[in-house]
Amino acid sequence: MSAHSGTQDLAVEHEALLQFLYLAPVGLVQTSAAGEVELMNPLSAQLLMPLSKDGGLANLFKVLESVAPELRGMAEDFISPQGAICEGFRAQLTGGIRGKEEPKMLGISLIKLAPDRLMAVLTDMTQVIAQERQLKYNTAWLNAITAGVTDYALMSLDHDGRIQEWNPSIGRVTKFTAKEVVGKYFSVFYKDQGISIDRMTDYLREADEDGWSLSEGWRMKGDGSRFWSSSMIVPIEEMVAETGGGAPSVLQEEKRYALIIRDITARTRDAGARLNAMSTDYLTGIANRRTLFESAELELKRWHRHPRPLSLMIIDADFFKKVNDTYGHAAGDLVLCDLASALGESMREIDTVSRIGGEEFAALLPSTDSEGAFQLAERFRKRVEAACVTFEGGEIKYTISIGISVMDESVRGFDDLLARADTALYIAKETGRNKVEIWNGLKRALRT
Ligand code: GH3
Ligand code: MG
Ligand code: MG
Repeated sequence: MSAHSGTQDLAVEHEALLQFLYLAPVGLVQTSAAGEVELMNPLSAQLLMPLSKDGGLANLFKVLESVAPELRGMAEDFISPQGAICEGFRAQLTGGIRGKEEPKMLGISLIKLAPDRLMAVLTDMTQVIAQERQLKYNTAWLNAITAGVTDYALMSLDHDGRIQEWNPSIGRVTKFTAKEVVGKYFSVFYKDQGISIDRMTDYLREADEDGWSLSEGWRMKGDGSRFWSSSMIVPIEEMVAETGGGAPSVLQEEKRYALIIRDITARTRDAGARLNAMSTDYLTGIANRRTLFESAELELKRWHRHPRPLSLMIIDADFFKKVNDTYGHAAGDLVLCDLASALGESMREIDTVSRIGGEEFAALLPSTDSEGAFQLAERFRKRVEAACVTFEGGEIKYTISIGISVMDESVRGFDDLLARADTALYIAKETGRNKVEIWNGLKRALRT
């Protein structure tokens, strides 16, 4: 075979590859190790274009920075010359609007083909996620129904969420005594009463409207220890015949609920590791952007049913580039971990604390109005200002700026709430940093 026909063969192969790329039902993007795009098919462009801030698609990591900030670091940290950097990573694109539209989700797999060549496979996972969620709910139901009698506490609640009577299953799972729970709100199972009356009512109304309300999280036992639980509230409708002999009707005061609390600590430990990788940030271990959007979707749905204070905080480290430049990237990472854990400690069980970008964090605060959010933010800002991080014997001081937005009728969806907090943050940065600002109705454009 002559060299010439070899070249021809290659050209044919290349043509076939391009055809394949062009028609592939997934987005395919070939980049350099640094993410500079070398080839991409039309579907990729379609999926990525809405994410591009400057209208360009020159660098994959840059385009994905706002929704999957972890990717660049994952690629950099991947030292083998070849292999899968990540598979099925999920990037949350939008929060969905008014609880009606499904939030958009992009699946990303990143493969290292050669030391300076990466291939990204992109899929639109919006539909998949909706189905998965349905499946999760189904599984929760199935678990509740088929579980052994020994691992759940079953109790009835009155109209306001007070525990009505005692039975041994409560003692077995929660280690509380009858005296400690009967007549009390089911908030006794939350550490430091870490749930407000409003929030309890939300769960009950959710059960009224959807037929059930499910929540997972840390709960407390009578001895103060905590366990990871799955709790479900289901209304028990009691038929009360009207004295007039008409159709049975449900009297509001008679309304009761069944509360089922299960200790799933052990199960979560194994299955949780896999789930965790999807819902937590790989550097700091706190929730990631995706988890924030999931919580936000639920909170906004609740808000539209029963408007109650709901605040969002965006926290951004000040002059963080300087921390990296002065002490090195590893020190920067340590500062981020410190910030994440301080934030986690400062918030309540019902708050969603997450890392949403490189040095940017968010906290979604149910039952918290602007005044409450401001005080919390100020306290946290001062705490960070006063502390320092120890790195290789030296001490690193840093500060943060915080932007706050509060849910109200004019907020069109979670993206909008985020944008407002972001504008407030921008103003905090512009006016000196190391400070807290609440969104004041001004568009960012007016300030620039
Ligand atoms: P500002 O006060 O305006 O927020 O200034 P800044 O320097 O904090 O903000 P800028 O957005 O310009 O820079 C953010 C820097 O954060 C740039 C990037 O190198 C760094 N960064 C992003 N992610 C990580 C990470 O995972 N680890 C480390 N060490 N640094 C990161
Ligand atoms: Mg910053
Ligand atoms: Mg930033």
